[in-house]
Amino acid sequence: MHYEGNVIRPPSEWNSIILQVTVGCSHNKCTFCGAYKDVDFRIKDEETVSADIGFAAAHCQRQKRVFLADGDVLILSQQRLIQILQGIRQHLPWVTQVTLYGNAKAILSKTTAQLQELKHFGLSRVYMGLESGNDHVLDTIRKGADSAKMIRAAAHVRGAGLFLSVTVLLGIGGTEGSADHARDTGLVISRMQPNQIAALTLMVMENTPLWHAIRNGSFTLPDPAGMLAELQTMVEHINVERSQFHANHASNYLEISCRLPRDKDRILREINVAQQGGKQLRPEHMRRL
Ligand code: SF4
Repeated sequence: MHYEGNVIRPPSEWNSIILQVTVGCSHNKCTFCGAYKDVDFRIKDEETVSADIGFAAAHCQRQKRVFLADGDVLILSQQRLIQILQGIRQHLPWVTQVTLYGNAKAILSKTTAQLQELKHFGLSRVYMGLESGNDHVLDTIRKGADSAKMIRAAAHVRGAGLFLSVTVLLGIGGTEGSADHARDTGLVISRMQPNQIAALTLMVMENTPLWHAIRNGSFTLPDPAGMLAELQTMVEHINVERSQFHANHASNYLEISCRLPRDKDRILREINVAQQGGKQLRPEHMRRL
């Protein structure tokens, strides 16, 4: 496979064929994200992508899912996306799911009919980074969308019948904005009604503006107790009809994987036990991005 630079995938795509169809992220402004800081966004040429599909056809016959990398592949033109999806369907007929990252801008750049068309050609899931439901935090981290736009984008994905997975980031409000971030994120998630919620815990990379904010004292990362308090507040404020909730990424201090609303009370009890010291947290040296 012709991989270039950092190829990032969602945790749940650990066993997927990673087909890199763009390099970098067209937004590339989020202050906490160092994944593509030195990379100019570029769409990979058709020959390279076709060659990689050919490689997967020969060597990846046990993998049933394809993740289209990098950062926001939904920004590609409709024609190019359909061409890629058709190539996957033709050459990797055993693949049952094709997924990608889409930010609010990219999602809202498609009509409902276009999203439905992508579903028809095999797209099954969109991963969307909300990070926070608090507008001040979203503005500060330069996410490129406010909470109202995030909610509209979520409705657009779900309205097209696609599976929506939303990522939130514990700690991104800093100590100062911690409580507001946690509460508003829970409330916005409730309005987005995603099929899946993934909570990660902020780990700051040295090549990011956020790193410099920590160095100059304008941002303070919550400690593990603060992160647990955020998780607790967030879960308390999430009211969804039916979602998977995962906080089992290697960055998290406390591993949680459950269904909401079914397991809400149990999870809140588990967080409480951890807060009282009755449950082991992941040690700092074992946390990973
Ligand atoms: S949109 Fe995603 S990939 Fe792009 S800079 Fe923000 S967090 Fe990073």
